[in-house]
Amino acid sequence: MEAGRFVVETPQIQRLQRRHFILFNVLPLLLIIATPLYWDWLYHGGFEIALFATMWLLTSLGITVGFHRLFTHRSFQVAPSVQIALAVLGSMAAQGGITSWVAIHRLHHEKSDTESDLHSPNLHGEGFANRLRGLLHSHVLWMRRHPYPNVVRFAPDLLRSRHLRSINRNYLNIVWIGLLLPTAAGFAYHGDLSGALSGLFWGGVLRLFVLEHIIWSINSFLHVFGNRTYETRDSSRNVGVLGLITLGESWHNNHHRFANSPSFGLKWHNLDPGYWLIKGLEALGLATDLRMPDPAQVEARRALPSTSAHL
Ligand SMILES: [Zn+2]
Ligand SMILES: [Zn+2]
Repeated sequence: MEAGRFVVETPQIQRLQRRHFILFNVLPLLLIIATPLYWDWLYHGGFEIALFATMWLLTSLGITVGFHRLFTHRSFQVAPSVQIALAVLGSMAAQGGITSWVAIHRLHHEKSDTESDLHSPNLHGEGFANRLRGLLHSHVLWMRRHPYPNVVRFAPDLLRSRHLRSINRNYLNIVWIGLLLPTAAGFAYHGDLSGALSGLFWGGVLRLFVLEHIIWSINSFLHVFGNRTYETRDSSRNVGVLGLITLGESWHNNHHRFANSPSFGLKWHNLDPGYWLIKGLEALGLATDLRMPDPAQVEARRALPSTSAHL
């Protein structure tokens, strides 16, 4: 791929995008909708809830701390072993290989809410129907088929890392392992096929579904609804109350203003579990060089009216 090209589109890439969309976006949705058909066969007790919560938390941290704050924005440094762990956990979230995830997100920051942004909700015109179309596009539909950012231009640092190249190449295998692990745990706990299927459902299918909609909501709803603490050239917004469930990602306006900060909440009282993990790693000597923003700039917030775009 030539470094000068911005995006590429080939029939082969489009086939891969379509296959990925059907496997990891459409199929989990259909399986969730069909839950009443097989709900009675599944175990659903404390073990299943714990399995779901554990797999969701680990893979979500892989996305926000690994794919996003470490690999896309390089907001801190870690030892190679921690890099590998975060890259593998993020890959299990089935949101694309690490190289394309990083390239697409760097493109988002460079071109937020312009025609080159692959998932802006704000380019479909005014009026209820158009705003809704924009939200649907940015939430999920853009993934069916889209121009692919040139990874040589957007992610050369990842291409230089042997470990990350290998993890990227084995992306699909890692996704399958992420589904196999809870299946094996369910079988080990209950000792029967129903236990295995329950493990696959709670720690695999439901976990994927919940995680992906939370992450996609950052792309869609948080470029439309919420507060704009800082003036940015995009429409990013904060919804602090979602800080816990998004592991800090819902401070999206803060993030667009201080993209290289490991902290998205920016203030100690703003819920940001992703940052708490980074501080924990720092305390253990496993994370260094946290690129904290200048406190004076953080304070120089321009209070904008608390607005939400109208649907
Ligand atoms: Zn954004
Ligand atoms: Zn970002």
